[in-house]
Amino acid sequence: MYDARYTIRSHTSAQLDIEAVGEAVTLAGWVARRRDHGGLIFIDLRDRAGLTQCVFDPEDSGGAAFALAEAVRPEWVVSLTGTVRPRPDDALNPDLATGAIEVLVSELTVLNRAKTPPFEIEDGIETAEDVRMKWRYLDIRRPEVERALELRSAVTHAFRSALAERGFLEIETPMLTKSTPEGARDYVVPSRLAPGKFYALPQSPQLFKQLLMVGGIERYYQIARCFRDEDLRADRQPEFTQVDIEMSFITQDDIMALAEDVLTEVMAAAGVPAESFRTPLDRLTWHEAMDRFGSDRPDLRFGLELIDVSEVVAGCDFKVFADVVATGGVVKCINVKEGGRALSRSRIDAVGKIAEGAGAKGMAWIVFGERGEVRSPIAKFLGDEVIARLREAAGVVDGDLLVFGAGPRDATNEVLGVVRLALADEMGIERTGFCPLWVVDFPQFVHDADTGGWTANHHPFTRPFDADIDKLETDPGAVLSYSYDFVLNGLEVGGGTLRVHDADLQRRVLAVIGHDAAAAQEQFGFLLDALGFGAPPHGGIALGLDRLVMILAGATSIREVIAFPKTSSGFDPMTDAPSELSARQLADVHLRLS
Ligand code: ASP
Repeated sequence: MYDARYTIRSHTSAQLDIEAVGEAVTLAGWVARRRDHGGLIFIDLRDRAGLTQCVFDPEDSGGAAFALAEAVRPEWVVSLTGTVRPRPDDALNPDLATGAIEVLVSELTVLNRAKTPPFEIEDGIETAEDVRMKWRYLDIRRPEVERALELRSAVTHAFRSALAERGFLEIETPMLTKSTPEGARDYVVPSRLAPGKFYALPQSPQLFKQLLMVGGIERYYQIARCFRDEDLRADRQPEFTQVDIEMSFITQDDIMALAEDVLTEVMAAAGVPAESFRTPLDRLTWHEAMDRFGSDRPDLRFGLELIDVSEVVAGCDFKVFADVVATGGVVKCINVKEGGRALSRSRIDAVGKIAEGAGAKGMAWIVFGERGEVRSPIAKFLGDEVIARLREAAGVVDGDLLVFGAGPRDATNEVLGVVRLALADEMGIERTGFCPLWVVDFPQFVHDADTGGWTANHHPFTRPFDADIDKLETDPGAVLSYSYDFVLNGLEVGGGTLRVHDADLQRRVLAVIGHDAAAAQEQFGFLLDALGFGAPPHGGIALGLDRLVMILAGATSIREVIAFPKTSSGFDPMTDAPSELSARQLADVHLRLS
């Protein structure tokens, strides 16, 4: 707790309540507000813990303090000494922790002056984000930003203590590493001492943590900064932090149980009620998640499940549906309960546009009207009998809306997954609380339409199901992997896998994704070597700290929970990074700009 030995103050506003009445205190902080009131001056003094009302009375405060109080302006830094007294009844402020008291000031010292800030230092401002980021240190002074950073610190601390208690060693892995053209693009750093060569910043400590397992560490963690040069989105940053974990001699269930135990402690530290995070968490296989929700990170705070109606429409007179089923595809729908009642034609069309944006050619729909009448552009093709069977298959009652997707299975699931979220928005379905789950058993590989080859789904070090190993060369698309994503409220907050710990198997997996023996040795020789020196069975997980804290803080962007974030285009308006290098700096690292 607060210890006055390390500061020029005796108290912070966290310690000032009715119990403190009568005490002589010295406070220090920023002037949040100053009001002149009929001969009295009030200063709301802000420190990290909150606000305290301080009163200057020409009689009690003495001439010097009062005169100085007249001069101070918002955001000046001051220290003051005075006595805590109860506020008069009509001045009580129940919204403020210190709202029952005030400090009658006898001495005031100005520690520093301040220019007028470019925006109000208070919660709930509507200032543009780039302005807030340009003066981020002022933004951080705002209580809501500071609280987000406090939450982040509490969460980080809870991870550390939960893992340390369980015998995990915190180990740092290098920031300057070897570029591995897997996954995202690397951020690269030119080498001065080795002309023409480059380091890469780590996309994750993946290989190093595996090497620590070969080194016999058995339980490792790190609050690790990771760098990925991807196109940015609302919940992405060029650098982000993950709680990186690796264990030896474990099963998939062991790692998931460990993650659940650690997360239980973290949630408690973040103030989440125990009933909101009950373990063991639900699990869905990847296939089930895709089939039922059209997403590998389903938001289970609402329904709108996908319903397969391929059998109902097989051979029907609506050619689009019939052809899809005849050629091995699927026709699926979502029953939007009361959606027909709630959504106008134009809102349904807006969702249809979103479906098209996600790759659909269009979005068929049927509204089941109040008196059993049916409105739909495809009703006349489907015919009464098929519509009646659809009604039954999808559990329709009057007022409902069915929207459809049709095509190859995976693509159709994905489109309807996007449509499902759009419908939840359109219907204003409330999404509150926490809905954590595991998605497990991902396919080992995904087909790359550009190259016609295969790429790793999680990463190439993931261990295929033992039972699927013999399909690696013959049917890679059917190989499942020991893999698990931690999903919270529709966001992937973590993911991990068991690893390949056998060098030959690792070579076979790398071969599937296009690395022949020579390329594998060149790129991953150090790993393959290590696996040949008695690598134990091992696996791990990485939990996205930024996303987790964002969700816990109720924020909508990870930028809100990062002290100094970049904009969505990867720019820092405060320092102007990235910036140019001088000719001298470029020459030092043997670079010439084209
Ligand atoms: N290294 C992986 C990642 O960053 C996580 C893991 O498999 O532990 O996504």
